[in-house]
Amino acid sequence: ESLLEVKNLKKYYPINKGFFNKTQGFIKAVDDISFSVNKGETFGLVGESGCGKSTTGRSLLRLIEPTAGEVWFEGQDITKLSMEEMRRRRREMQIVFQDPFSSLDPRNTVQRILEEPMIVHGVGDAKQRRAAVERLADVVGLAKAHLQRYPHQFSGGQRQRIGIARALALQPKLIIADEPVSALDVSIQSQVINLMQDLQREFGLTYIFIAHDLSVVKHICDRVAVMYLGRIVEVTDKYKLYDEP
Ligand code: ADP
Ligand code: ADP
Repeated sequence: ESLLEVKNLKKYYPINKGFFNKTQGFIKAVDDISFSVNKGETFGLVGESGCGKSTTGRSLLRLIEPTAGEVWFEGQDITKLSMEEMRRRRREMQIVFQDPFSSLDPRNTVQRILEEPMIVHGVGDAKQRRAAVERLADVVGLAKAHLQRYPHQFSGGQRQRIGIARALALQPKLIIADEPVSALDVSIQSQVINLMQDLQREFGLTYIFIAHDLSVVKHICDRVAVMYLGRIVEVTDKYKLYDEP
């Protein structure tokens, strides 16, 4: 059963040049791609830098607006929603970025960072949110005492745990992980990936896992779409990934 169906998605960025900033043409960052993601699976999106992976991930949540195409999430085409409705829908579809440092507000404690999505979406009262934050910390393996610290006081791997905890705060169904381990040491990468797999089992999450390197996604993805110059050139099943020499 599919959770997400992407139909003929396109994102063209205008190239603006000259004194009048006239549009000279378009970069076809995502050029007519279609795929579907099943409930509970980990769907990989791989390809070399610049092939359109991030643009795809962000377009699915409409953090950037697609140029054309449909994105069906649980039977609803979310490209048709107003921005207000879309913001509400994002409770169920969250994104984890490569470098959580750039997306974690440095002025806020971890407590506040994890509480923020719940405040924005009006979830619970202060006491319930505090309890939820402690559960989140526990789930991703952060000490309770660390909740009063600031992002810069953590290592890269711990910051990614915070980024993951924040994405989990609203109990989403889908998490788009955009190169979540690419900035981490290899030894830390497997810890974060193991954590993500544990969370998937525990909460029945569906993942879209973006990476530039097949070796990262090979072992955790059920299927992998390979992108090249804005297009999907192949979708490979797990058994095929393992078959390779
Ligand atoms: P990837 O995630 O695979 O590295 P991106 O989606 O970041 O690829 O980029 C795809 C293409 O779109 C690249 O050619 C990139 O330079 C271009 N691009 C990405 N973001 C923008 C933007 N905001 N404005 C113009 N071009 C962009
Ligand atoms: P801000 O905190 O000011 O909204 P961000 O750079 O953190 O700025 O986020 C940019 C956009 O991405 C915002 O629209 C925000 O709602 C959205 N966003 C940030 N983090 C997540 C997340 N984990 N899941 C879904 N959307 C997110």
